[in-house]
Amino acid sequence: MFPLEQVHQQREMLGLLDAGAVLENRLDQASHENLSYVEFLQGLLQVELQARRERYLKARLRLAHFPAIKRLEDFDWTFQPSIDMRQIQSLASLAFVAEATNILFLGPPGVGKSHLAISLGLKAVEAGFGAYFVTADRLLQDLEKAYHEHRLDRRMRVYLAPKVLIVDEFGYLPLSRVAATLFFQLVSARYERGSFILTSNKGFADWGDVWGDPVIATAILDRLLHHSHVVNIRGDSYRLKDKKRAGVWTAPAIPASPGDSAGGSNSVGASGSNLDRR
Ligand code: ADP
Ligand code: MG
Repeated sequence: MFPLEQVHQQREMLGLLDAGAVLENRLDQASHENLSYVEFLQGLLQVELQARRERYLKARLRLAHFPAIKRLEDFDWTFQPSIDMRQIQSLASLAFVAEATNILFLGPPGVGKSHLAISLGLKAVEAGFGAYFVTADRLLQDLEKAYHEHRLDRRMRVYLAPKVLIVDEFGYLPLSRVAATLFFQLVSARYERGSFILTSNKGFADWGDVWGDPVIATAILDRLLHHSHVVNIRGDSYRLKDKKRAGVWTAPAIPASPGDSAGGSNSVGASGSNLDRR
């Protein structure tokens, strides 16, 4: 066997898949440009590393199940002045992931809650963290099913593994007692270990109704909010902006958005349950 063939064989056995496509080219280049052994090797390994990074990124992106790719860079801040752009950009530095802090986006439909949740999840994925997107409805149906089929532990692991768990559209449907208890278990298990990014059109004051049980609602909120950033968004629906411009639609009076009195967004500090913030 020729030495080059042997190198290819060894390379494959080592799992260096991407270096193979450029090996001959790099060898030619090295001899033309009089590269040192180290320079040649460094260049070749760089190709492999880069390709591997991209493969892993794609895999993490697939696993995250984002319903659409939404980027922070595509968010029109001027349309939604109640959002503190700097706060969101600072969240995008991902300190919240390292600290296992939660983020809650609250506000009426169409104001960009899911967009911002996904774009922060995307940043986490791009930085090498695992993320998972699921609607509250699906999550709880899934956990409830697993519970009844006696395979809750295994299913729970799916939602415990990712550093960032995005639970979208919380509070649209009232929950059964079992679902509330299961969600409490999930929140407890992830507490101080992984971040939630949660979106909801309900203020904290209404969570008791959603859960059907104020005691469980309080216990869940207590853990969720202990280390958290709460972003209250109030404003018009982006979905309806063109219709509004055309005069087809006028916004109904939206009641004061839950969770803060001053408008805009705020961070809940690192201690205390903050259940009385509304
Ligand atoms: P919500 O989850 O609050 O109901 P979404 O995040 O789903 O709203 O936003 C609705 C649609 O409008 C999405 O396609 C989203 O990308 C887009 N969108 C919302 N707000 C903005 C914004 N400020 N700039 C750009 N696109 C936006
Ligand atoms: Mg949404």
